[in-house]
Amino acid sequence: MTHKIPLMNLTRQYNSISEELNGAVLKVLSSGQYILGKQVSDFEIAFAEYVGCKYAVGVGNGTDALVIALRAIGVKAGDEVITCAMSFFATAEAIAAVGATPVFVDCRKDTYTIDPDEIEKKITSKTKAIIPVHLYGQCADMDEICEIGEKYGLKIIEDASQAAGAEYNGKKAGSLGNIACFSLFPTKNLGCAGDGGIITTDDETLYKRCMAYRVHGSGENGIIAYQGETGEKLDADSAAIDFQSNLPKYYNFVIGYNSRLDAIQASILNCKLQYLEQWNERRREIARQYDTRLSKAEIMTPYVQSDRNKHVYYVYVITTKERDSFRTYLDGKNIATGVYFPIPLHLQTAFSHLGYRKGDMPNAEYLAEHSLAIPMFAELEEEEIEFIIEIINRYEA
Ligand SMILES: *Cc1c(COP(=O)(O)O)cnc(C)c1O
Repeated sequence: MTHKIPLMNLTRQYNSISEELNGAVLKVLSSGQYILGKQVSDFEIAFAEYVGCKYAVGVGNGTDALVIALRAIGVKAGDEVITCAMSFFATAEAIAAVGATPVFVDCRKDTYTIDPDEIEKKITSKTKAIIPVHLYGQCADMDEICEIGEKYGLKIIEDASQAAGAEYNGKKAGSLGNIACFSLFPTKNLGCAGDGGIITTDDETLYKRCMAYRVHGSGENGIIAYQGETGEKLDADSAAIDFQSNLPKYYNFVIGYNSRLDAIQASILNCKLQYLEQWNERRREIARQYDTRLSKAEIMTPYVQSDRNKHVYYVYVITTKERDSFRTYLDGKNIATGVYFPIPLHLQTAFSHLGYRKGDMPNAEYLAEHSLAIPMFAELEEEEIEFIIEIINRYEA
């Protein structure tokens, strides 16, 4: 290869639909409507329909989506929320940001999603919710997890940031728990040209609370959020909103956030959503080639629970004993790689006060030391795929 094959590549995606994207962005610029408005609500309606949910709320980023979803279900200081030890930091950071304590559970050895058999042991009287992460683009075991949620009265928040378009038992990620969060960060399967996020739910009350939290807890939805936080009923009259002469946005009922999906980003997402299925299908096609043609015994390709899951390969992650030397070998052959993620959450310095030790989550720790993502994106070219497979199959440990 004369060029380095990237792990992901956003320029190629842009070039493939640049006229459409340029047109959409310029339309927003000339419209003068930059915050919320039609582009954002169009995208919310289209994304909710795509996912198979009643409601969607566009927010500033995936981390805020998690924070707002946690606030909407009423998680607060002193509560515990169970999540997977292997994820991007934001999953646990959001739990801590609302004052709650993340409680980590190891991932499964094969799928790398949260191990449902380990969840019940971690439930206490303080547990309020479970956040399964659809890691790498494959849904967690939602049947088992939702069953535990029902048994103990816990809400299920999907972290679907890596799984836009993934399916579980024929239903889309984002429609499987009580509420779901997506990051629309540029590299995600559906990504904008900056930061963005979206929340999906079928629950009207949760939807209205999220709508309030993203705009400083204001407006009529703020009344619903207030009721959620205090248990006290308020109506618009007693809340003294003068809808005739003042804007409801200047009446604040709870402490919220300034976290909205930008109109420009929404216009980009309205274009890209049209291509998501096609791009995911191409990712699966590339994965099929890797799965069937990578032949080195010491390179383990990803395990898909194919009777229930349709994977979308946000990243294609292999595991191997000598990860670092394998990585150096690929780098020397002009093939970029990545590690998702080098430090499991329970061993992050920011969570050292929680007292976890090395050895507590053997599967997450194994992954941190032995996993490697190889190039995966819809615009990867046939000759690049051929080259990657050939180079990997020639590797001598
Ligand atoms: C990307 C990601 C996030 C955070 O999203 P941002 O948009 O960067 O805030 C959260 N959880 C997971 C699993 C992610 O992959």
